[in-house]
Amino acid sequence: MNVLVTGGMGYIGSHTSIQMIHAGMTPVIFDNLYNSKKTVLERIEKVSGVKPAFIEGDIRNKELLVNVLKDNNIEAVIHFAGLKAVGESVAKPLEYYDNNVNGTLVLVDAMREAGVKTLVFSSSATVYGDPASVPITEDFPTSATNPYGRSKLMVEECLTDFQKANPDWSITLLRYFNPVGSHPSGELGEDPQGIPNNLMPFVSQVAVGRRDFLSVFGSDYPTKDGTGVRDYIHVMDLSDGHVAALQKVGSKHGLHVYNLGTGNGYSVLEMVKAFESASGREVPYQIVDRRPGDIAECWADPKKAMTELDWRAERTLEQMTEDTWRWQSNNPQGYPEA
Ligand code: NAD
Ligand code: UDP
Repeated sequence: MNVLVTGGMGYIGSHTSIQMIHAGMTPVIFDNLYNSKKTVLERIEKVSGVKPAFIEGDIRNKELLVNVLKDNNIEAVIHFAGLKAVGESVAKPLEYYDNNVNGTLVLVDAMREAGVKTLVFSSSATVYGDPASVPITEDFPTSATNPYGRSKLMVEECLTDFQKANPDWSITLLRYFNPVGSHPSGELGEDPQGIPNNLMPFVSQVAVGRRDFLSVFGSDYPTKDGTGVRDYIHVMDLSDGHVAALQKVGSKHGLHVYNLGTGNGYSVLEMVKAFESASGREVPYQIVDRRPGDIAECWADPKKAMTELDWRAERTLEQMTEDTWRWQSNNPQGYPEA
């Protein structure tokens, strides 16, 4: 099966491409390298034995996409490409709506023209806003609190309407909880540019000495230790979830929606502790004010994906932190330039 992977040079797309290769699929990567480096392709080859085809391009370029879809006999698309920094989205909403919403519409239009009718979309637990309770099931109400979240929600709504009007399409919305971890080889991992927004990359940069201390955003939440609780999921499990989605519902007409999470919640301080024992390094931290817009706790009910996709997250917190540390300590400055 030839699958176009938009954003396939990025964190989740690169790991998913590897798991697709292991599952006998052929990923064709399409990425504009806005937030990734070309070296990723060599790393994918190193760990999987296969160098995927790579097209450097922007998802807003319809003509190029139509040609790529046709020339590579693409049967399905996994759509990771987009911008993902919440804070940046508040400062640059137009860029976020253009890349994430307009970009997806252009992609779907190109797929329609090329006759490709299977799409898997990277959504996020952010579409649940501040959930009334946990664990979260797929039928919880959706809302958005910032332009990034709104762009994900808008795309979900556009794709839902589009699938209704085109019932012979298979469209799958995968709502990720908090992806962390790295390929166990230490060759691939998360390589944020600038100051990391997310907890785990920040923690690992403190451990490796790139930053002095972690700011813990709030210790007065109504949670087990007062710090925020999230459902951290190993990126390899998340990647397997995409393979399972393609295999189980990729050929089933309809709109399919799944949470990809573990069902467990860990606090910021629990993550720091786990990382310290995986790395053998101290992670100094300071408690600071809450981050505006943050919620207290959020974790998935993953039963629907277990039942319908025959998939479950299997990797432990130890694997998440050990694999992150292997990547970070082998590549303290991230990927080298090509
Ligand atoms: P990433 O930034 O590492 O990867 C995204 C890739 O898309 C990058 O390689 C970037 O160069 C490319 N890209 C961006 N705009 C593009 C465009 N217009 N045309 C072509 N390529 C473009 O991000 P990631 O963490 O791998 O996330 C992948 C997807 O999953 C994103 O859609 C993100 O919103 C979603 N998601 C991520 C998380 C997370 O915590 N990492 C959580 C929920 C959802
Ligand atoms: N967090 C923190 N310091 C940081 C980054 C994050 O204390 O430098 C906390 C944040 O408040 C939240 C948790 O870590 O409780 C996960 O944050 P992240 O941004 O990784 O994910 P999200 O909030 O989007 O779920």
